[in-house]
Amino acid sequence: MSSGKSAIVIGAGFGGLALAIRLQAAGLRTTLLERRDQPGGRAYVYRDQGFTFDAGPTVITDPSAIEALFALAGKPMSDYVELLPVSPFYRLCWEDGTQFDYANDQAALDRQIHALEPADVAGYRRFLEYSKAVFEEGYVKLGSVAFLSFRDMIQAGPQLARLQAWRSVHGMVSRFIRNDKLRQAFSFHSLLVGGNPFATSSIYTLIHALERQWGVWFPRGGTGALVQGLTRLFEDLGGTVELDADVTAIEAEGDRLTRVIARDGRRWDADAVASNADVVHTYADLLAKHPRGRDEGRRLKGKRFSNSLFVIHFGLERAQPHLQHHTVCFGPRYRELITEIFGGSTLAEDFSLYLHTPCVTDPSLAPPGCSSHYVLAPVPHLGNAPIDWAVEGPRYRDRILAYLEKHYIPGLRDDLVTCRIFTPEDFRDTLNAHHGSAFSLEPVLRQSAWFRPHNRDAQLRNLYLVGAGTHPGAGVPGVIASAKATAQLMLEDLGA
Ligand SMILES: Cc1cc2nc3c(=O)[nH]c(=O)nc-3n(C[C@H](O)[C@H](O)[C@H](O)COP(=O)(O)OP(=O)(O)OC[C@H]3O[C@@H](n4cnc5c(N)ncnc54)[C@H](O)[C@@H]3O)c2cc1C
Repeated sequence: MSSGKSAIVIGAGFGGLALAIRLQAAGLRTTLLERRDQPGGRAYVYRDQGFTFDAGPTVITDPSAIEALFALAGKPMSDYVELLPVSPFYRLCWEDGTQFDYANDQAALDRQIHALEPADVAGYRRFLEYSKAVFEEGYVKLGSVAFLSFRDMIQAGPQLARLQAWRSVHGMVSRFIRNDKLRQAFSFHSLLVGGNPFATSSIYTLIHALERQWGVWFPRGGTGALVQGLTRLFEDLGGTVELDADVTAIEAEGDRLTRVIARDGRRWDADAVASNADVVHTYADLLAKHPRGRDEGRRLKGKRFSNSLFVIHFGLERAQPHLQHHTVCFGPRYRELITEIFGGSTLAEDFSLYLHTPCVTDPSLAPPGCSSHYVLAPVPHLGNAPIDWAVEGPRYRDRILAYLEKHYIPGLRDDLVTCRIFTPEDFRDTLNAHHGSAFSLEPVLRQSAWFRPHNRDAQLRNLYLVGAGTHPGAGVPGVIASAKATAQLMLEDLGA
């Protein structure tokens, strides 16, 4: 059933895809424009010599939010993608040889916590209760509600105060847990969405409850298979995907957007435009000719941005049965390193790493007997640390691979079949990310909810935002929730 109205979504990240599906399913003629040759955004896929490398998200949580997109379209998710459970959720490792398998098994968790600090068994239970309460308020009730007026913020105030949202993630974890390693184990999660555990609101402890509630999943065929499934769903609904459509301008007449223009001259008229592209890029570049674009672009450039990431995708000619799917490799320093990542002007000597080993769950991602991986190190964004990554990248890659070989993957460099790097400059140049940030605006309290760029622009009547830069924020569940909030506004406004 078509309403006769049309919408353009700029950017085919998870947020853009989820929004396009919701709009098309509701009867709006929707066109999704993506500047790269594949959809997915941060969830792009590289392939080489039989190895498949997901570029971005690998920890898939809240499958119900994904299922809801298929349900809207009246299609079973299983026709499009299969989600496989991952257990343990993560293996956490420290340089002294301590390992902690974080799994959805209370008895196993209690045993491991007890081995590190007996008093923390009870402390962890209290932390989990707290995290569940935050999850109910912050995710279930407010995650997909657009905060358009300050009144919405004031209404949420009492809950935020009761949950002590002014405390940091690490500060809150430390109120329940004594052991330093366990404090790391239960506070690092905010890093997955670009939040400094020492600065980000304790609201982000909800990620812990979210994982315990619904588990950690991985699509068969990799995260790219989920992107393909969502793209196919959108097309089956009648939506149009235009790849290699690098949008350079959005035209307006007064306070209404009228047309979207691509670098190659293609143009699309629309009743409404939603941008899934970086928020600074959207205002400062795409709307550079409009006073609202210039003003808002300038204002947003003054905000705090999340860290960037340095990522190495590599394929090995040997399987690695001793590794788990997700490994967090804590380095010698935690607080000090994180402070340097979020505020430092240079690259630290040490690093903490996340190692992805997807063949544990799905061996088809590498040729038989081989394994595909990526390893990432959080690093400062280019606004804080203007590093020349063309020079530093290969050096940093070699240091990280040597470290992995010493601590985690003996013989790594001899077994290397293929290897590529993705640096903060690639985030900037390939994804148009301001300062090369991997997660957009930093999720501190004064840049969250109403304080974050709104899902609907305050002045341009038919401009909407979706994705990491708007409410609620980064991470796959976050951007899928943003699509729900944005779709609701668009459909109301367009009477669809
Ligand atoms: C390495 C890495 C690992 C991560 N791991 C996890 C994880 O395990 N779990 C998790 O939940 N989250 C994870 N995240 C975060 C998560 O991936 C992101 O927050 C989320 O995918 C961002 O989605 P988005 O909708 O904001 O769009 P993006 O993925 O940022 O996509 C935006 C799209 O807009 C396109 N675009 C930009 N400018 C234009 C233009 N002018 N014209 C046309 N198109 C344009 C871009 O090419 C891109 O495709 C990770 C992120 C990274 C980088």
